[in-house]
Amino acid sequence: MDPGTWRYGGNTPCLELEAPDGPRFILDCGTGLRMLGNRWTAPSGEKSQRTHILITHYHWDHIQGVPFFAPLYVEQNEFEFYSFRSKFLGPDSLKQVFEAQMAVPYFPVDMSVMTAKRKFHEVDGGESFTIGENKITTRWLNHPQGCLGFRIETPAGTVAYATDNEPGDAKLDESLRELVAGADIFINDAQFTPDQLGTTRKGWGHSSWLEGVKTARQARAKTLVLFHHDPDSTDRIVDSLLRQARDEFDSVFAASEGMVITLGAPGEAVQAHMPGTRAALRREVQFQAKVYGLTEGGNEFVEETVVCDLSLQGAMLTLKHLPQLQSELQLTIDAPGTNGEGRIRLKGYVVRIDDAQEKGSVAVGVVFTE
Ligand SMILES: [Zn+2]
Ligand SMILES: [Zn+2]
Repeated sequence: MDPGTWRYGGNTPCLELEAPDGPRFILDCGTGLRMLGNRWTAPSGEKSQRTHILITHYHWDHIQGVPFFAPLYVEQNEFEFYSFRSKFLGPDSLKQVFEAQMAVPYFPVDMSVMTAKRKFHEVDGGESFTIGENKITTRWLNHPQGCLGFRIETPAGTVAYATDNEPGDAKLDESLRELVAGADIFINDAQFTPDQLGTTRKGWGHSSWLEGVKTARQARAKTLVLFHHDPDSTDRIVDSLLRQARDEFDSVFAASEGMVITLGAPGEAVQAHMPGTRAALRREVQFQAKVYGLTEGGNEFVEETVVCDLSLQGAMLTLKHLPQLQSELQLTIDAPGTNGEGRIRLKGYVVRIDDAQEKGSVAVGVVFTE
């Protein structure tokens, strides 16, 4: 694990989406796919089922997790893959990518050990199809060798996934806005700073937080997720991009490894949480903390509390005050038994608020920034 990216994580794109009516989707097969697969096959193991895998394009960072996805080696599992016919690869583009990745000498075993049932579908930009009660629509995005954006309209709301796209092509900018129109969650490429995008990284096929904010405003998206962080961006750099975006737009998250975002009832705010499975620190220990924050009404508060579920990425706190969703909190935590010498100061923002077991309190999920 790279200490410079331990909070946001360093894996390449892979998202899982669970629709309320049952179907399970995976968006892209970057290196994050390996962790996802390991979670599926954890001892509690759920029953195998059919999964729909939507691939945006064939750049290495979006497919390299495939050979390391354990559920592909389980005979009962069924996968349906969707991606476009690449003019460089021809018919069955995605199948060919699979075979090439598992060819000698790149991988120790061949395709025959990948025993899960696999079906490949070719989709083109502008197409729509239905899976269960979910309508999926594709649009071309501006990226070298092409990239598809996916809009998934579920019974709980709409998610638009637009990784790897660069603004500046009028027709494709319009196609992005169509993809995103009124979406509850808009996941957009935010690899570069606005300055880089206008100068040294022009033409590289990526976007910035500022372009994401502009598109979110124009297309009336409700929540923006900054995605596809630059491999050279440390956590501190992503923190600063997030802070700038949040100054401009109400609801913004920076995608973070393991982060779960939930769509509530219509009209309710989108909430996130970190299940804390990764890099959890002595979770059985409770830490005394002083919390400085802002209430719903915009008033400052200070409260002494206990922090549970503390990890390097975030924590859960019980508070009597009701903080504002997405507002910044500061925590001063005393490590147990150190009489104040082991004091840690942390900053984070509120990503989730639930009723606490204790009456009159709320459980607050915080993701740490710096
Ligand atoms: Zn790409
Ligand atoms: Zn990419």
